[in-house]
Amino acid sequence: MIKTSYQLCRVFGIPIYLDISLILLMFLFVRGYDNPLYGLAAGVFLLLSITLHELGHSLTSMAFGCRVRDITLMIIGGRATLENMPRKHWQEFLVAIAGPAVSLALGLAGYFVPAYLFHAGYLTDNLAGFIMYSVGKLNLMLFGFNLLPAFPMDGGRILRSALQVRMSRLRATWIASRIGRFLAGTMIFFALCNILGINLPNPRIPGAVGTLFWHFISDGSYFKLLIGWVIFSAAGSEYRQVLAEEGGGPRAPFGFPFFGAKTPPPPDDGKAVVSPPPYARGGSTRVDVRKED
Ligand SMILES: [Zn+2]
Repeated sequence: MIKTSYQLCRVFGIPIYLDISLILLMFLFVRGYDNPLYGLAAGVFLLLSITLHELGHSLTSMAFGCRVRDITLMIIGGRATLENMPRKHWQEFLVAIAGPAVSLALGLAGYFVPAYLFHAGYLTDNLAGFIMYSVGKLNLMLFGFNLLPAFPMDGGRILRSALQVRMSRLRATWIASRIGRFLAGTMIFFALCNILGINLPNPRIPGAVGTLFWHFISDGSYFKLLIGWVIFSAAGSEYRQVLAEEGGGPRAPFGFPFFGAKTPPPPDDGKAVVSPPPYARGGSTRVDVRKED
């Protein structure tokens, strides 16, 4: 296979990889600004913001004894690959919320710190405005976007952990991944409409929710087509993963086929579940002792 990502450094023992698709991202940033240096800086701020977001997830999962294989930065965002996931739903909740919490903190700091430094006379009007946009606004957008309940995005994971208070992990994953697929499908639909030049009426939902919704359906259509497709397929594969982990058959928990899940259940003696890929991709097969809770 062709190598597409290269290790940049290690942070807290976690290798950070850069995907070659970032070359295109940097090109778009540099081209999008009058001053290419500002474009370059904005691109670097974005990558740093995503890395810190992923470190939020990673360090929280490590606190629960999980192992993080790597963090990879790509054009569609960042991805922390965990060798194993916390199984308790409140732990999953904390791991999922940690990333958006970092983005929110960075976003608020990115607004208030430059505003303060500008009023104190340390920053020019131009520079303060640039930082407020490229750190403040960008991180607040990352915060809002990641909280969409589109499983397996952070909001979807939070939803699944909340559902697990009332139902099994398998059922909760089924519901969360269905909602994830619905939202991803909606995103793809609106992106296609925009690309094909079909005008959509603005639903004019008031307030911040309306602004977020309008961003969701109107901006950056090619990008959203790609992200929508990634979420759509990831929701399906993660459901199949949980289905296999929980020893389920090809049928969904509500009795009808779902996602064409044909994975045969792993050997299950009632005690141990052999994790299928991707968690076992690191090399040796991991065997979990299933906790009854
Ligand atoms: Zn996240």
